Amino acid sequence: MKITFLGTSHGDPTVDRYNASFLLEAGEAGYLFDCGSPATASLVRLGFDFGRLRAVFISHMHLDHCADLPHLLKHLVKHKLKPRACLPDPAAVSPVDSLLRLAYPVPPDLEVTYQIIEPGRFFSDGSVSVTAVPTDHGRGKFPSYAFLIEGSGKKILYTGDLAADLSDFPVEAAQAADLCICELTHAPPETMEKKLRSLSLKRVIFTHIGPRYEKDGALTLPQGLSFPVSAARDGDTVTVEQRGIPGIA
Ligand SMILES: [Zn+2]
Ligand SMILES: [Zn+2]
Repeated sequence: MKITFLGTSHGDPTVDRYNASFLLEAGEAGYLFDCGSPATASLVRLGFDFGRLRAVFISHMHLDHCADLPHLLKHLVKHKLKPRACLPDPAAVSPVDSLLRLAYPVPPDLEVTYQIIEPGRFFSDGSVSVTAVPTDHGRGKFPSYAFLIEGSGKKILYTGDLAADLSDFPVEAAQAADLCICELTHAPPETMEKKLRSLSLKRVIFTHIGPRYEKDGALTLPQGLSFPVSAARDGDTVTVEQRGIPGIA
């Protein structure tokens, strides 16, 4: 599986970070995780073939994670593709679909499939499966999820946004994962360090980088951890593959 980070900022874009989104590729199939702006334009700039996009998964409906979704759906429909949007909240379907149809006359035979995310494994297409782990980022006001992505014999955990006290950190899924893609905004540095030090993880890449961790381009990452950590930048790619399979490094 190959990941390309399209946007690695927190709630606001910065001069060098767009809002939250990453592309996951497994063979010929592509999947988009969160769709902060300007994810669609970023995919075009990458030269991505939108016909490969199997689904887009939204962790929660904060706009830094979903503002570009109507634009993406419009792009797919316009090019006669049939998008699947996996949304965390049933209340999101109507406004997203209304905005799409307001902006673009969707032909009746080109329906968008909206799938409401439920806790547990909710998506599997033979290439990857995605399991939703509820988080408490919404503090009971709206649903939010972490995603455990499984494919090519490997597991990747994406935390989405978390509660500031990290009481909702998806510990079990993260410890099972070969790579944890972790948000770095809501928890204070001491809380994040304490939580991570208590865990046995294989590798962490931070994204959704908040201002208390990055000032004037200088990053301060959690220290004293027993596993490798790094911070993604827009455009970074990382490959997570099963060793020993012919043709795969
Ligand atoms: Zn966010
Ligand atoms: Zn959020």
